[in-house]
Amino acid sequence: MKKILIIGGGFAGLNLAKCLDKRMYDVMVLDRHNFHCFPPLFYQVASSGLDASDISFPFRREFKRLGNVSYHMGHVKEVDLKGKVVHTSYETIRYDYLVIATGTTNNFFGMPDMEKKVFCMKTVAEASHTRDEILDRLERAAMEKNPERRRRLLSFLVVGGGPSGVEIAGAIGEMKKDILPREYPELDQADMNITLVEGSSRILGAMSEKCSAKAEKYLRSLMVNVRTDTMLKSYEDKYVTFADGTREYWETVIWNAGVRGELIPGLPQECVGRGGRIIVDRFNRVVGHEDSVFALGDIALMTTEKYPHGHPQVAQPAIQQARNLGRNLNGGDWKREFEYNDKGSMATVGKNRAVVDLGHTYFDGWIAWMIWMAIHLVSILGMRNRINVLLNWIWNYLTYSTSLRLLLRPARFPERRHWGD
Ligand SMILES: Cc1cc2nc3c(=O)[nH]c(=O)nc-3n(C[C@H](O)[C@H](O)[C@H](O)COP(=O)(O)OP(=O)(O)OC[C@H]3O[C@@H](n4cnc5c(N)ncnc54)[C@H](O)[C@@H]3O)c2cc1C
Repeated sequence: MKKILIIGGGFAGLNLAKCLDKRMYDVMVLDRHNFHCFPPLFYQVASSGLDASDISFPFRREFKRLGNVSYHMGHVKEVDLKGKVVHTSYETIRYDYLVIATGTTNNFFGMPDMEKKVFCMKTVAEASHTRDEILDRLERAAMEKNPERRRRLLSFLVVGGGPSGVEIAGAIGEMKKDILPREYPELDQADMNITLVEGSSRILGAMSEKCSAKAEKYLRSLMVNVRTDTMLKSYEDKYVTFADGTREYWETVIWNAGVRGELIPGLPQECVGRGGRIIVDRFNRVVGHEDSVFALGDIALMTTEKYPHGHPQVAQPAIQQARNLGRNLNGGDWKREFEYNDKGSMATVGKNRAVVDLGHTYFDGWIAWMIWMAIHLVSILGMRNRINVLLNWIWNYLTYSTSLRLLLRPARFPERRHWGD
């Protein structure tokens, strides 16, 4: 049996592991987290709509029924393509075939300071941290006597008008609309400022113009300000400077402005292309290492006539590439070139407010929201998770609230407390 080492158990890595022939391959999935998770719903974790465990699934539970797949935890420190070994934070692993499916990380566009000051949603941990910070601001504002300081505490700037930015801005808007009046009687809705800024001329730029216009309308109905053609240049001492020179105070900045490939040290420079992605051929083989190294999903840069800059960094190309590579590895004949089947795109702004582009068909409102919910529910791994998510959604829909707004801070570790002391 050949040993296949898959780095990354996201959509790409997990789907490949599941479809490799049990009789041909001994598969190991290596990931720094011991669970697979569902990024499309990270924004609901960040806005206290779902618990992190509802959208996460332990690898070991998934792999125990597969037989030929094992899991090791570890952060990859370096790959040695000549020696066919990978060095992780804990061990050195030998492989016959290496599959790199490490996805992407936040891109701060050469503003390294930004990394420490803004909140993100690129992992479950980051989404949970963002939730804590949002709740922290609401609680502190509820005690604040000085109106100016209260307004400042309640200022939330969401950077990036792609689906994640729109979704988190909408979710905070729903908190302002539904939760503030019910549970924070000390706070005035008008004091809470939620603004979404986007560098280009419209939000949801990868979707149809109809979707962009409708999403913007939905956001405004949730009292979220939308500013397009607005580029952020820096964020210092809570002051944002925009490209036109304007300086504004923003207490909380939530960053969704871009991603870059999560590269691994040791990869030759000639394999790396635009956006820090690994250049692959139409079979997901890494250029120059076609016989033994593959890259899949967000990290893979495959250029085709239809996608000259690479495929969109969303779940479907990752899943479809994984299945295609699985078929080629199982067949051993490399007959199947990858062709992306675009099934459409969607974004939700809040309850009954969603937009869906399915080829030439467009939906919005309640029907789009139902389509969005159904597709996300069936895509989540694990029946327990699906039931939990569905119950939470029904509960939220009926009560306009959740019981997940818990700020968990261990008193034993003062450095992790942030209680203003
Ligand atoms: C907030 C958010 C919302 C999104 N919403 C949508 C959506 O609505 N629809 C949609 O289609 N797509 C959405 N996406 C994009 C989608 O999640 C990605 O396209 C998809 O996850 C890519 O799959 P992947 O397997 O390539 O990478 P990932 O799913 O990112 O998996 C990469 C894995 O590699 C592991 N890893 C990375 N580096 C290392 C290392 N050095 N060592 C060990 N392990 C490592 C990570 O822990 C992770 O488990 C969203 C993404 C985010 C962040």
